[in-house]
Amino acid sequence: MSQKSVTFKGGIHPPHFKKMTENVPIERAEEPSLVIIPMQQHIGAPCEPIVKPGDKVKVGQKIGEAKAFVSAPIHSSIAGTVKKVAESNTPTGKAVCVFIESDGTNEVCESVQPKGDLENISKEEIISIIKEAGITGMGGAGFPTHVKLSPPPDKTIDYVVLNGAECEPYLTADHRLMLEHPEKVVFGLKVLMKAVGVTKGFIGIENNKPDAIETMNKAVSSESNIEVVVLQTKYPQGDEKRLINAATGRKVPNGGLPMDVGVVVNNVGTAAAICDVFKTGMPLIERIATITGSAIAKPRNLIIKVGTPFKDIINQCGGYKEEVGKIIMGGPMMGLAQFTDEIPTIKGTSGILVLDKEDATLPEPQACIRCGKCVNICPVNLQPLIISKLSLKGMYDEAEKFNATSCIECGSCSYICPSKRPLLQAIRVAKKEIIAKRRARG
Ligand code: SF4
Ligand code: SF4
Repeated sequence: MSQKSVTFKGGIHPPHFKKMTENVPIERAEEPSLVIIPMQQHIGAPCEPIVKPGDKVKVGQKIGEAKAFVSAPIHSSIAGTVKKVAESNTPTGKAVCVFIESDGTNEVCESVQPKGDLENISKEEIISIIKEAGITGMGGAGFPTHVKLSPPPDKTIDYVVLNGAECEPYLTADHRLMLEHPEKVVFGLKVLMKAVGVTKGFIGIENNKPDAIETMNKAVSSESNIEVVVLQTKYPQGDEKRLINAATGRKVPNGGLPMDVGVVVNNVGTAAAICDVFKTGMPLIERIATITGSAIAKPRNLIIKVGTPFKDIINQCGGYKEEVGKIIMGGPMMGLAQFTDEIPTIKGTSGILVLDKEDATLPEPQACIRCGKCVNICPVNLQPLIISKLSLKGMYDEAEKFNATSCIECGSCSYICPSKRPLLQAIRVAKKEIIAKRRARG
């Protein structure tokens, strides 16, 4: 059955670069001999370590306690001995990390138990289970999932939308997940729907993944309240506000949240992780990631244990075949550039992208030729050329009047600019300054 595809105004069409891994089945990475598990892996307050050097830990054992509401506990991904608890480099900056040396047993913690029949678990219990399992958004941003599932009483939620767009070039982890484990995605969606008390769920998938659309359509064929929405292939289709509009027709206002229009959005990977928690009891200790790029010898989709060093994962992909130009956690548009491969993977590591020198070299920026392309493609209807100019002059109050803080940092403007101006970088500076000023004002 052909399905009409939907989209949003603006956006860009960067090359996909997904061929390297889109047909490569998911495999399990080798067991790490050492994991370095950061206590800050999500948006919100860091966790406090509850283990010390010399302690023996098991797979799935809690090692970091979340002390704030916007936080999520952290668990050990291996069995072994805590070697040290110390500050170390992580993909998101320095953080306290728990270093665990494997004992090779993979002994599972006694607390890891299946949660039983979903029918018999209340909404409140579901949210508590998700919180205790340390579930955070797997699409990259890493927002604690239990927070999204706990809207204030004045907000009514009508829909849960799963993000299977995977609009970032290079990444294929979500695509492979939907092809190989559609039942996990559907079960996870049902758990999320029960948690917020809704009877309608959507799964949005870009139309460059026809096999995933077909597989997910089959997986939901007996679910009358779940619909697969076919999205046009366009970046940033996976941005939650664009996705909500395409799937439900609702528009999140500038500065608003999905819950303001009655929607909760989660990634398909998050849904699969939730399925694992309910079926096996295992908290979020591993994930699927795409290891790819022009400098990687053998690009793959791997299940990686949280805390495994980038370097070990890259070595399992044949190592580097070219001189490294850039290492990015995530995709090339919104991913985080890294200065070393001696950092651990985290819950939000959707991909490890390594570009060679040629692919990583950006042309020198030229003067703006006022072509207007950046304005035409901005999905939020901003004027990137003006905001970036004001930012470069330090005129942040003026930039605020041009809605700089509404920028979703998709990078489309920088990508499309024929003069290769670093528009996003300048806009980010303005956003940071404006937000800091607002905080100072209270
Ligand atoms: S201004 Fe922001 S939202 Fe608009 S295209 Fe540039 S990065 Fe994307
Ligand atoms: S796309 Fe680049 S050159 Fe064109 S108006 Fe925007 S900043 Fe200027």
